[in-house]
Formats: sequence, structure tokens, C-alpha cells
Amino acid sequence: SAIVDGVTRGVETVGHVVTGGFMDARIRLGVTGLSRAGKTVFITSLVANLMDRARMGGLRAAADGAIKAAYLQPQPDDTVPRFAYEDHLAAMVGPEPHWPESTRAVSELRLSLKVQPGGLLGGLRGPQVVHLDIVDYPGEWLLDLGLLDMSYDTWAAQALEKARARAEGAGFIAALEAVDGAAKLEEPVAKRLSESFADYLKAAREAGYSDCTPGRFLLPGELEGSPALTFAPLPAGEGPRGSLRRELARRFEAYKRAVVKPFFRDHFAEIDRQVVLVDVLGAIHAGPKALEDLRQAMADILGAFKPGRNGWLTRLLGGHRVEKILFAATKADHLHHKQHGALTAITEALVREAKDRADFAGARTAAMSIAALRATTEETRSHEGREIDLVRGRLMETGRHAAMYPGALPEDPGRLLGAARGGREAWLDGDYAVMKFAPAQVSLSPGEGPPHIRLDRAAEFLIGDRLK
Ligand code: GDP
Repeated sequence: SAIVDGVTRGVETVGHVVTGGFMDARIRLGVTGLSRAGKTVFITSLVANLMDRARMGGLRAAADGAIKAAYLQPQPDDTVPRFAYEDHLAAMVGPEPHWPESTRAVSELRLSLKVQPGGLLGGLRGPQVVHLDIVDYPGEWLLDLGLLDMSYDTWAAQALEKARARAEGAGFIAALEAVDGAAKLEEPVAKRLSESFADYLKAAREAGYSDCTPGRFLLPGELEGSPALTFAPLPAGEGPRGSLRRELARRFEAYKRAVVKPFFRDHFAEIDRQVVLVDVLGAIHAGPKALEDLRQAMADILGAFKPGRNGWLTRLLGGHRVEKILFAATKADHLHHKQHGALTAITEALVREAKDRADFAGARTAAMSIAALRATTEETRSHEGREIDLVRGRLMETGRHAAMYPGALPEDPGRLLGAARGGREAWLDGDYAVMKFAPAQVSLSPGEGPPHIRLDRAAEFLIGDRLK
């Protein structure tokens, strides 16, 4: 496709691009969200659309032609995996479009933009190169920040309380029965227990729960099987030297020191702009408990952007601030655009409490409903004398094309979140159904309608001011 060609050309010409040394500006854009929130699709589409720019009318620098060129360059961090942009793009826009592999760990990509602002001043200044360093990392890893303040015993008590309250925790709770924390450490016992704990966390995540810390138990990366990931919470009790409990507590400390802290130091500390992707529709679909859990997880995730709450992080950041944070509800193409306002309102309400507690130390924030890759088209039909707004697409499960009406989101988000807090089991009169759509065949020729929803507005909020 045109975009794939663009990539190749971009890479080939890198050597010829004159980057003006000290004149180059740099924006470090963090992209996060819990697993399946849409990070991979978002980054791939953002980069493709910044290179092509035909569908980016809402990004002023694209609309007025200030962006003269956009090309991929080797990223500045030699030891961080590169975001597999070309693979993901090929999946999404190939002859048989499918969703790409999701984020499993941290990765990075540098997109360089050659910008020549218009007007007298712009003409005098000459073109400038702005490097957009995109850092993709799992939101689960941000949740781990909360662990730094906890001792093993405090954490274990909380983790066990959660496991008991969730149906998915039953297997792990049963496995604990057979274990004596005061007994001498035997590695196979520690391993079995931590595997059972990890299985429970993964099942809970599948069921829609958001807070499933420690984050690396879901997405271990290269740490799979290492002692720092071979621990589990045990009920309070004796922990003599050489015992299972003593060793698990030691590994919990190792996890904080060797896993959590380096992530914040190496990847998080220098982020200037941040987008937090949230699968709000998915949580609504999973039910009230999942939505309430998402609300709490958002508050914890946002804790990382409020320096001051955590002394260690405040010292690490040394005054560096995230200037803008965008909360984006993803997959908005599952809804007719008449419902996008309601989805945005729910997203705002989800993060409001966390936002109210501190103003993110001066960061500007916004909420939006977006679809990085639109998989549906809209249509309106009359049914029993009423007009119904539908979306149509190819269903993942059957491959068949179908039009669907997912149910109405309430105009008042308080109703929904109140029901979630009250621990109700079901809501919205009927079931709120979200189906999974496969990516549509996208054509990149101009005039065919945007293959995304508000990706340009998201870009304007996140980086527009730096492209002037
Ligand atoms: P990650 O785990 O945050 O990297 O999530 P992905 O980017 O892999 O997205 C997870 C899944 O969400 C995808 O496989 C798609 O099924 C779905 N998805 C993501 N973005 C969109 C979108 O813009 N529209 C639709 N319809 N589905 C999306």
C-alpha cells in the first residue's frame, strides 16, 4: 500500500536528512493503557497518518501544510526494543486485514517531522526538525508504583483480600491451603504457588478486572521465570530464616528494586506528553464490577502523574513534568457518533475523582472518544416506527458482516458509575453488548472518509503546540 511504500522510502532517505543539530526539538510521547486498551493500534495508526497526513485535518500543522515531511529514524535509546511499526501496519492494512499483536513490554519509535511554519516569522526561521519519540508501555506497569510504599505483609493482605473477593481467585486461595509459610523454602512449592497466583491474575484480567498487580505477572517480558517474579502473597504468620515466607518477602522487595524502579527511571521519567488509552466500552460490557475496578485502576495509574504522592518518584523526576495528558476512550467506532458524547462524558467521570484530588501538578488534561482504526460504517434504520443508529462491520467471530445496535449509553454518566460503585450485578436495563469487529479493508486514497475517528484531534492536543 501507499503507506508501506512511504515507510520504506522514509527509512532509505534517513541518511540524507539534514537534522539541524542543536536546533532539533524533541517530544517524548508516552502511550499507555491496560492490556487490550488499543496502544498498538493507536501508535501504528498515528505514525501512518502522520506520514501520510491526508486524513489529519484536525491537526493544524498538517492541515496548513506546516509539516513538510515525516520519516522514521533510529530511536535514541539503543537498548529499548523498537516498536514493530512495519509488522503492525502490514497486519492492519494488508490484503487480509487483521489486528496486530498487542503490547507485551516497553518499546520505542522515533518519527521525525520536518516543520516549516507559514507566515513571515516561519519563513525567516527556516525549517525545523521535531523528533517525536513514542514510548509504548503497559499501563499495568504504572500500577506497580503503588507497591513501592508497601511492605510484603501489607501488600499480601491486600492482594489476598482481592483474590478472595473475585471468583477467579478461588483456585489460588485453595492452593494456599496446602502451603505452610513457616516451613523451609522448597523451590517447586514457590514456583507452583506463583504460577497459580499468575493464573488467577490473568483470569481476572480476562474477566474485565483492571487492578491485577504486580504488573509483570501479566506481562513478564524477559523476566519470565526469574526469582523476582516467583513470589505470591501469603497470609500473615511466622517467617523464620530460610522459610518460604521469608524468601517470598525478599523476592517481593527484589521485584520493587529490580523491576519497578528501573522502569520508572529508564522509561517514565522523561515523558513530556502522555496519552492514556482506556477501553471504557469493554469495561461497560464486562459489567458494573469491571467498571468500578477500572475507575479505581485509573485513579492508581494517574497517581504516577502526581509527583508528590510518592517521595521516591518525586526525587527521581527532579522537577520534570508531564505537560499534557489525554484520556482517550478507544474503539469508539463500536458506537454511532451520536453516542460519542456520552462515551466521552463517562470517560471524564471515570478520571474526575483522581483529577480532583490533585491537578496533575499543572498538566493540561482532556478526554476524548477515538478510534485509531475505524472498522465500521454508520447507518440509520427505522424499526417499529423509531429511527435506530447502527454501526456495520465484519464480525471477528464469524467473519460475517452485520449491523448492530449496542444499546444506549446513559446521558448522565453518574448513573452508570453510581451503579458500578453500588456493586450492582447488571445494568442498563438490558445487556450492553459490544461485539468485536475485524479491521475493514482500508483504502488510503483521499476522499474515502477517515479510517480513524478523532486521531487528528488527539494529535493536535498532544503535540500540535510544538509544531508551530
Ligand atoms: P494493546 O494491548 O493496548 O496494545 O491493544 P491493541 O492495540 O493490540 O488492541 C487490542 C484490541 O482492541 C485489538 O486487537 C482490536 O480488537 C481492538 N481495537 C483496538 N483499536 C481499535 C479501534 O480503533 N477500533 C476497533 N474496532 N477495535 C480496536
